[in-house]
Amino acid sequence: MKIGFVGLGNMGGPMAANLVKAGHAVAGHDVVPAALEVARAAGVSTVTDAAAAAAGADLVFTMLPAGEHVRAVHAAIAPAMRAGATLVDCSTIDVASARAVHALAAGRGLASLDAPVSGGVAGASGATLTFMCGGADAAFAAARPALEAMGKRIVHCGGPGAGQAAKVCNNMMLAAHMIVTCEAFALADKLGLSAQSLFDVSSAASGQSWSLTSYCPAPGPVPASPANRGYKPGFAAALMLKDLRLALAAASETGAKIPIGAKAAELYESFVAEGGGGIDFSGIIKAVSR
Ligand code: NAD
Repeated sequence: MKIGFVGLGNMGGPMAANLVKAGHAVAGHDVVPAALEVARAAGVSTVTDAAAAAAGADLVFTMLPAGEHVRAVHAAIAPAMRAGATLVDCSTIDVASARAVHALAAGRGLASLDAPVSGGVAGASGATLTFMCGGADAAFAAARPALEAMGKRIVHCGGPGAGQAAKVCNNMMLAAHMIVTCEAFALADKLGLSAQSLFDVSSAASGQSWSLTSYCPAPGPVPASPANRGYKPGFAAALMLKDLRLALAAASETGAKIPIGAKAAELYESFVAEGGGGIDFSGIIKAVSR
């Protein structure tokens, strides 16, 4: 397939490289010259503007920081795309922006999908991302072969915006699980219970979660977790805070009550304000156990 890719950063760069590896012709664009250089070395043919990446493509991907960037880039590239082509945004953005760019695409006769990911930079490099997709069946079918070249789990969650809705709900759960797991290790320590003993019990009991068994915030029990490498990300606390702010915005738009999600946002807000933004999100155990 002929594919356009706009936003060749930490995630988009390796994702575009995996599309090249799968045999697709990829035209890529980013505003940062260094990102273009890395992409070029991976076999992406780089172009000077977003519309040029999109022109004549069957599929166009965007992987950008936030909703405002996606709205601006989609407005620039939609007119350059041929009718019937598919526009896929993989960025993590607010549901309202996701729905707005779906409407823009529909108005231009384009198919569109919101397809945010989980799996981080390691998942982007190893082509093991999970894609959460929102959009019509035909758009999902058109994008699926390319998504399979970049990920291992591709879920069609529903109509426009459903992928972003799944992402925001999942990450709000993750934040709350992580914080309470940190609190449990801090309490165990004060009670004279070792981290390993709590892990051995709870990893096979009703307190079990991914935050505990795959990403344990206390050093020791899970050798691969960031706790054993000085809380180097992984998934930085600043990115978790971004996702929690999206959850707060979605809750306020819909009237959903999320007191625990709001408390998690407040705790990550303080952690980031105190300089923890670049630390893995499990590093919040340092603030919790203070
Ligand atoms: P990044 O900042 O490394 O990459 C974004 C890229 O977009 C940058 O290279 C930037 O130069 C480019 N860009 C910005 N505006 C542009 C424009 N107008 N035209 C062309 N390029 C433009 O960010 P990232 O870590 O790759 O994350 C991208 C998205 O994926 C974000 O929404 C993020 O929340 C989400 N995400 C990131 C991770 C992660 O672990 N990094 C995990 C899951 C989801």
